[in-house]
Amino acid sequence: MTLDNILEEIKKAEKIVILTHETPDGDAIGSSLAMKLAVRQLGKEADVIMPKHSRTFDFLPEANTIKVQSEIERYDLAISLDCADLKRLAGAESFESAKRKIQIDHHSINTMFADHNFVNPVAPACCEILIGMFEYLGIEITQELGTCIIAGIITDTGGFQYADVTAETFEFAAELLRKGVNISNVYQKVLSTNTKPNFELSRLVSNRMEFFEDGKIAFTYMNLEDERKAGAQEGDHEGLVNIGRNIEGVEVSVFIREKEGANGYKISLRSKEYVNVADVALMLGGGGHIRAAGCFSIGTVEEVKAKVLAELKKVI
Ligand code: 5GP
Ligand code: MN
Repeated sequence: MTLDNILEEIKKAEKIVILTHETPDGDAIGSSLAMKLAVRQLGKEADVIMPKHSRTFDFLPEANTIKVQSEIERYDLAISLDCADLKRLAGAESFESAKRKIQIDHHSINTMFADHNFVNPVAPACCEILIGMFEYLGIEITQELGTCIIAGIITDTGGFQYADVTAETFEFAAELLRKGVNISNVYQKVLSTNTKPNFELSRLVSNRMEFFEDGKIAFTYMNLEDERKAGAQEGDHEGLVNIGRNIEGVEVSVFIREKEGANGYKISLRSKEYVNVADVALMLGGGGHIRAAGCFSIGTVEEVKAKVLAELKKVI
């Protein structure tokens, strides 16, 4: 598949939908909104549909146009962003019923579920793929579009700190800065501002932090009751898994969060230098990136904890 195919498909389509993975993060939201703005430059209006997301990203251009549900039965074209697997795609029905399907993603294990699959596993963010793609397609990286792009890059690289950041990442950032994108402002909004419930939850999960394997594994958890008490909303758990990872000597941080109505826990894994947590998550039925991965497991805190620790002990 070439990039020109994507351009052709967009030009041919009338009704376009943009979708992303469940519990959308900054890269999911940023890439979806950037794509909406790009499609508009080609003279088309696309629906961006995703589940309720963190209010942290409400400042992004066009965020107020995001819909939670589709009103259109069948789209001409569906574009999936930042999603490795149809099972994780929010609004998968709209994707499956669309006449043509495109996906753009940066996960190393991707099931190639579209007609056109544009997957670059070494890109640190889906937004970084988009910026190169738009330049090739002659789509102007406006200040608005650049703001969405940088929000995705900043969130997925933890503020340019992860090892998958490339020289290109900084070159793109420099280019965006020259175009008037306020990187400092976006950075502060998406990474350096905690909501009050997020702060309350960080106290709680810090107090519950346990260490295993000579301090190489940090483990903590959160229940639905904790979220309710903290007044947590969508996205208020974001970043809690980093508390463990940022502690000296810790290689893998495990954070588990009770999933509503599912009798189990959503597992978040982060590693610092050498453990491939994507492989660990894969063993537990999930997936992700080498240094950030996740999965779901049925059971109590103790049961899920035992299961994850058993897997981690094999690789640590
Ligand atoms: P998080 O810990 O932020 O929920 O997820 C980190 C990364 O792990 C995500 O970007 C995603 O790639 C991956 N991930 C999280 N949960 C799942 C899951 O249930 N299945 C798969 N395949 N990947 C997941
Ligand atoms: Mn991403």
